[in-house]
Amino acid sequence: MFERTIAAIATPAGDGALGVIRISGDDAIAIADRVFTAFSGKKLSSLEGYSAAYGEIMENEIRLDDAVALVFRAPHSYTGENTVEITVHGGSLMLRSVLRLILKSGAFLAQPGEFTKRAFLNGKSDLVKAESVMGLISASNEAELRLSRTAHSGKVAKKIAEIESGLTALAASVAAYSDYPDEDIEGLNYENFNSMLRSAQNALNKMLKEYDAGKILREGIVTAIVGRPNVGKSTLMNMLSGEERSIVTDVPGTTRDIVEDTVTIGDLTLRLADTAGIRDTDDTVESIGVRLAKKRIESSQLILAVFDSSEPFSDEDYAMLDYIKDKNAVIVLNKTDLKDIVNAEALDGFTVVKISAKEGTGYDELSEAIAKAAGIASLSPDSAVLLSERQRACAQRTLEGVTAAREALNSGMSVDAVGVCIDDALAALLELTGKRVTNEVTDEIFRRFCVGK
Ligand code: GDP
Repeated sequence: MFERTIAAIATPAGDGALGVIRISGDDAIAIADRVFTAFSGKKLSSLEGYSAAYGEIMENEIRLDDAVALVFRAPHSYTGENTVEITVHGGSLMLRSVLRLILKSGAFLAQPGEFTKRAFLNGKSDLVKAESVMGLISASNEAELRLSRTAHSGKVAKKIAEIESGLTALAASVAAYSDYPDEDIEGLNYENFNSMLRSAQNALNKMLKEYDAGKILREGIVTAIVGRPNVGKSTLMNMLSGEERSIVTDVPGTTRDIVEDTVTIGDLTLRLADTAGIRDTDDTVESIGVRLAKKRIESSQLILAVFDSSEPFSDEDYAMLDYIKDKNAVIVLNKTDLKDIVNAEALDGFTVVKISAKEGTGYDELSEAIAKAAGIASLSPDSAVLLSERQRACAQRTLEGVTAAREALNSGMSVDAVGVCIDDALAALLELTGKRVTNEVTDEIFRRFCVGK
């Protein structure tokens, strides 16, 4: 399908025990035969797919290295093309010298993502799967890795295929009606149409919601820990991180800097800032802390508002509750090992968790409340969720098309008008999986890959 046979180093830069160079394209095996000599005397071109040969890489009588060559025959390879993977010793210079020889022998240097792009264009992978490869490679936490694995396994594509088949059936009914308006078309009645559109709408809404939750699982949630001085914010942070990161002291107002830190609670990464207490104060350094805390609240997705349960609420506490009442906050009542004398009425409507940061109690309850507040409680890292902003935007456009189709249907517009909206929705969905996608979009996606992938 592609004229050029491409090659690139597939393993990371730097020195390693082994390094792999991948060659893919019609001439991959012939080119490999020009540089590789098997000790068995057999040519790679005589080998079946999925076989390996041990030999050496020769450049004009000079032996560059021992090597193992793995032969894949089209279409049974990652790219769907003839492919040879040559494994040599993993030094950067060694790999570059072997690659140079392969390029001299007829291959072209691969563009970033070109192997995966060929896999997509050769029908080995849809776009959702191809994009998940990036997540498999660059995952920075367990949750991201598992979400990428699930997408790579085809679960996400299956979910999308279900919506697609419903919409395709509707579009087919509309097309049949347009061609034969006087005939009875099976399935073309209001009830059926409306219910199919509604179920597509529900599935898409769920998918978009899960995307947001998945994004939080992958990237973490920006979290502000706030509260008066001395209520135990630093101690809470230490409890979460399991380390003595913040300065814990009995002097009120000592946590002055915003300390960026990440901790994991359950499946979730909290991107924390330990802030000064919110209070009015004349102390200039402390005032800066207060201003920063308010700013931090505004720019956070989650607020852990800490209160001292052993003291009655002060005016500042009431002010804080008022300040955060419409925000995504979890109230953390700390020091419950001492006593619990707070005004429960003032906490009506809030999510409240009782803990003792000092003794480490209440961790599970806090973890559960945080997962709920972060919107990830119903999502496990094995869930099938969309992985990229591009995919989300396509799903959003599909939803808009489906919603418009329902509105057109319910306002008594013509079947053709409904059909136009369904076609829009389908086009966006086909772009999501890559069944119908422009070259520009494909190029843009694969440009973000590394060379060799
Ligand atoms: P911050 O100013 O809000 O960061 O408060 P700190 O974390 O520095 O804690 C202030 C004081 O309260 C320290 O002496 C802590 O040991 C104490 N403290 C924190 N959490 C608890 C708790 O759960 N129980 C008790 N009894 N003391 C605590």
